[in-house]
Amino acid sequence: MMIRHTRDNAVYFTSSLLDDIRSYPQSGEESVDNYQKNPTDARGNLRIVHGFSTKHGGVSTMPYISDLNFGFAVGEARAVTVENYRRFAFCLGIPGDHVVCANQTHTARVLRVDARHRGMGISVPYEALLDAALAEEGFDGLVTDAPGVALAVRVADCVPILFCDPVHGIIGACHAGWRGTLAGIAAETVSAMCALGAERGSIRAAIGHAVGTCCYEIDEAFYRAFLTSLGETLCESVFSVCKGEDGSVRRHCDLRRTNALLLAACGIMQQHIDTSTLCTCCHPQLFHSHRYAQRHTGGKRGLMAAFISMEEGAN
Ligand SMILES: [Zn+2]
Repeated sequence: MMIRHTRDNAVYFTSSLLDDIRSYPQSGEESVDNYQKNPTDARGNLRIVHGFSTKHGGVSTMPYISDLNFGFAVGEARAVTVENYRRFAFCLGIPGDHVVCANQTHTARVLRVDARHRGMGISVPYEALLDAALAEEGFDGLVTDAPGVALAVRVADCVPILFCDPVHGIIGACHAGWRGTLAGIAAETVSAMCALGAERGSIRAAIGHAVGTCCYEIDEAFYRAFLTSLGETLCESVFSVCKGEDGSVRRHCDLRRTNALLLAACGIMQQHIDTSTLCTCCHPQLFHSHRYAQRHTGGKRGLMAAFISMEEGAN
């Protein structure tokens, strides 16, 4: 992960893996070949742009949500939150009206979107574009092959994952809390990208800031659920055990590593997975954190976002 600054010196992060892709198609032989073979790809030069927000750089003013919040249910005027989306998009080089936001409900459901969905979840209600059941049940992953459609997911401890296949021009984004992780949201997002023409061998994934092992104590039921769904081998490398003051066994989970291993298991190359090491709960000055808020602000907090888009023209 690399630290970036906006014009007004707010901080955000990008992945070096996704960041070295300045345009698609890549100049490599394989990609140029693919580009020429696929007539639907004749759409000129596209920049793949992305970023993980911090909690700074926006216009929020309410207590405990800092100045950059992407959540619409924290009590601030909707127009203020909408302006935050526009500002973060702007600092990444994305027109504000290109953004589509996932309607996150901790599922493994992934929605394919295109230019018709621009603004959905921000300036356009889900119900206006989706059938009632889908709008209500929600979805935690987004994929597109359309230029000028920015995918957004929101987090405050959960794991944000951004994807791109720079060879075939397909992008994805998903939100993986523990329930979504167990349900397989990361692999489902990869599958949805492949259904659009992406190939696992060329997909890159950036796993953003989330609660770290240090601050993610889990209970026995959580551990059992992971063990049952994901198996002993994987669980051995994502859980750590420490003794509490009373001598009791406390288990901690590395949710980012879990997702990285699940991505590797579904065919994403290890060298194509970039994982942030920053814990949201340990850095309350920089990030919104659900766990930190539970302990220190009566649960009051904002949400951060991760955006990815293929935008036309030179940077
Ligand atoms: Zn921590």
